[in-house]
This record gives sequence, C-alpha cells and structure tokens, in this order.
Amino acid sequence: MSDLHYPVELTPPDIEPYRAGNTGIDYVHSFVAAAPGPHVLVTALTHGNEICGAIALDRLLRAGVKPRRGTLTLAFDNVAAYSEFDPRYPIASRYIDEDFNRLWSPATLDGPRQSVELERARTLRPIVDAADFLLDLHSMQHATAPLMLAGVLPRSRELARRVGIPELIMCDAGHAAGPRMRDYGGFGDPNSSKTALLIEAGQHWERRAAEVASDVTLRFLLALGTVTREDVAALGGPDFDAQPRQRTIEVTEAVTIGSDRFDFAGDFHGLEVLPHKGMLIGRDDGREVRTPYDNCVLIMPSRRLVKGQTAVRLGRYID
Ligand SMILES: [Zn+2]
Repeated sequence: MSDLHYPVELTPPDIEPYRAGNTGIDYVHSFVAAAPGPHVLVTALTHGNEICGAIALDRLLRAGVKPRRGTLTLAFDNVAAYSEFDPRYPIASRYIDEDFNRLWSPATLDGPRQSVELERARTLRPIVDAADFLLDLHSMQHATAPLMLAGVLPRSRELARRVGIPELIMCDAGHAAGPRMRDYGGFGDPNSSKTALLIEAGQHWERRAAEVASDVTLRFLLALGTVTREDVAALGGPDFDAQPRQRTIEVTEAVTIGSDRFDFAGDFHGLEVLPHKGMLIGRDDGREVRTPYDNCVLIMPSRRLVKGQTAVRLGRYID
C-alpha cells in the first residue's frame, strides 16, 4: 500500500531561518517573561514527515509570540529527517536511523548506542528536562478525527479538558518499542507535576492538520496562561471558540507485532468500533488477533507492519 493516495496539501515551511535559535541548541527558541510562570515547551517534527507541527511553530515564530508569564520554548525536533522531506515520497522522512519518539528513557539516552535521532534527543534533553508542560505536535497515516494523546496520568487528562479541543482524548501507555518524549521523566511520573500532551492533528498531508495543530497549540498556551486571547487573536483558527463535548478513549492494550508477517483482517483506518468480543482484527504469522471485548475501538492502525512495532492499539470509550 502507498501513502500517495493522500494528496500532499501542505507545503513544508523553510525552517532554516530558525537554525541558530537563541538557546545554543539549533532550531530551539526560548522566550522568558518578566512575570513568573511555568516553562511551556511546544515541539514539532518529532517525526520528520509530520509537517503540520512545523507550520504551527513557523506561524508562532513569525508572529513574534512571547509569553506573558514564565517561559515559552519552541523546538523543531528531528530536523535531519525533515530536511529529507520529499512530497513524492512523503512517508520516507519519518526518521533517519530510528524513531526519535521511542528513545526517551534514561537507560537509552545515557547508553552507548549512537544514531542520528539519539544524538538529537541527547541535545534536546536539557530542554525537555527544564519544561513544566509539553505539547508535542504530530499527525497520522490515516485521515481520521484528531486525537489528543493524554497518557495514563489524570493530570494530563485534566489539561486536555482545559485545552478543550479536539473532541477525542486518548489515555494510553505508549509503545513496547520504547518510551515517547511525552512519557519521559516527570511527564510520566505520578508524583511529579510535569504534564505532557501529544496531539495527532490529522492525516500527515491534509490542510486541516495544520489548522488543528495551530488551534490546539494556541488553546494549550491559553489554558496555561502563557498568552492571552488578545495576544493570539490574529492567529486564531476557525475552531478558536469551539467547545465540543470531549470524549475519552481508554487504551487497554497495544498489539505489538511478534513476527515478520502481520496482516489486518480489514481495511482499517482507525476509530472503527468493532461491536462484539472475538471479532478478527488481524493475523500475526497466522495467529489470530481478536477483539478482547465488545465495542472495541481500533486506534491508529499502522501501515508499517514491522516486528516489534505497534500494529494497532485497542481501547474503549469511557465517557
Ligand atoms: Zn508522529
């Protein structure tokens, strides 16, 4: 299967003007207000081909957004992969050597292994350590409704409610292949106050994903008091006033691929609700994977069906 049946509607912005930054780390800008407040970090290009986040940060930087209180840091993560983005092969630039968003444990970051992504993660680590709040901007392979990934901690889910969009909040524990930046350190610690969200803004190349990424970023900054509504009025998207009824999907498990051959039983795109327990989802080297309960929601079925990676996550609506 190819990704080419989704037209590339987005134009990747030129981020070269942001290379120098102002922090000593390439492609990282940080702004400090006179008034005290939290350190808020917004990151884009954790996956190099997810350009909606780069568009959102480019808009903020060009508008000269500054925090009213605390610190606002804007970071472009996997710029090496992004620099290889080619609209003819848009899926190819997700990463160079390995997934940047599976490296976020002290054991991996402090370990001996080397890769393009590990080097960048190690460089960015002090920024992630310093942040009190994180919003990581992503997009998805399939065109489904945007998803806010709030992890498993109640405080993240509460923040997702305060942000107010999108409609769907997903509570999930991540991937067997390795921890995400949004789960790293205090962000995944029940005893910390550090709070992280990850937005899947839409399909990688759809115009709407860039609007969702911008809207969610502005609502996130408003919710934390980093900016006022007046500060960002000119940047407000069409959903700026939206107050949808938010629903939460609790992820119960990730289906991790155990063989060299995984096939889905249907052309799943995500958010399908399989009504009955025991329905066939796919086959992992012939072993049947079936729904563990009624009304099972399929979340972000992958088209990169590689051993050790997540094929799909399973969940259910809890409100
Ligand atoms: Zn991503």
